[in-house]
Amino acid sequence: MDFMKKIDSLSVVVPVYNEEASLPELIRRTLAACRVLQRPFELVLVDDGSRDRSPEIIAQAARDNPGAILGIMLNRNYGQHSAVMAGFKHVTGEIVVTLDADLQNPPEEIAKLVACMDEGMDVVGSVRVPRCDSVFRRVSSYMVNRLTARVTGVVMHDYGCMLRAYRRNIVQAMLQCHERSTFIPALANSFAKRTAEVEVRHAQRQGGVSKYSLLKLINLQFDLLTSITTMPLRCLSVFGMLMFLLGGGLGALILVLRVWHGPEWAVDGVFTLLAILFFFLGAQFLAMGLLGEYLGRTYQDVRARPRYFIKDILGDSLLHQAPACPPGQQNDAL
Ligand code: UDP
Ligand code: MG
Repeated sequence: MDFMKKIDSLSVVVPVYNEEASLPELIRRTLAACRVLQRPFELVLVDDGSRDRSPEIIAQAARDNPGAILGIMLNRNYGQHSAVMAGFKHVTGEIVVTLDADLQNPPEEIAKLVACMDEGMDVVGSVRVPRCDSVFRRVSSYMVNRLTARVTGVVMHDYGCMLRAYRRNIVQAMLQCHERSTFIPALANSFAKRTAEVEVRHAQRQGGVSKYSLLKLINLQFDLLTSITTMPLRCLSVFGMLMFLLGGGLGALILVLRVWHGPEWAVDGVFTLLAILFFFLGAQFLAMGLLGEYLGRTYQDVRARPRYFIKDILGDSLLHQAPACPPGQQNDAL
């Protein structure tokens, strides 16, 4: 039955921020890489408020390749993940691939991802081998990936690599998440059932400089962590509980010893003061933990992510024959 296999169309989304040095080559190589795949495709270039010639290059490319390139111009810089989301909003392909504009990941590797998606995967991640980044970047990435794998239980070896492929329904699900700080690979994994990873080549940046300063990188890691879990807040309540027990115990012990040994042992009230202090300290931590628990729940609700996402509805019931809502809106947004 292989000859009847449906050929899925492809959309490639590239966020662009001051990438005039690599953009022409990126466009040329990505178009070539897509053409050999023998399927309908589009290249969606999202300009994230660049201040160099990138917008003109995108506009020219869109004029030169009608039907193949879509340019989306954001009015200012919103960050890589927001730019990719803006691109997602306009894709039409069944398979959606994201790629960086700096040619660190060769566009020729898209074929590998697409081949894996054709097996029916929801998300295909990638691992950069060998990784051509500074030692600091590699070490911090290794730690973040280990932590993320432990917290989510989903083992993916390289959350930082943006050369990834998503099925359209996963992209739709992500678009229904309206939180401001997103980390797309982690968000996608929270909706995906069948995931896979492939190894892709990695090169030095072709031109320009990295758009991530240390501060931005730290911010990104927090985006990754908080987009997955409220675990740190839970740690606060566990710690608070322990401190409460410890403080209470220690305070009680000092009071007992004070009664037992008399006021001389307690240095005329100093130890009693300490005991009271321990009690309050413990209570404070406990209260902070409680606040954390409420905060965590508020955070989950404020994000208002879809509670579930329906893939398909099979069969028919009499009550369902006249659709109550237009097709395409069956997904419960709350
Ligand atoms: N990028 C973006 N907006 C930003 C920062 C980066 O669209 O505010 C794009 C950038 O043009 C590139 C990709 O995101 O296509 C990854 O950026 P970069 O290569 O600087 O990150 P690094 O490889 O250093 O992690
Ligand atoms: Mg890069």
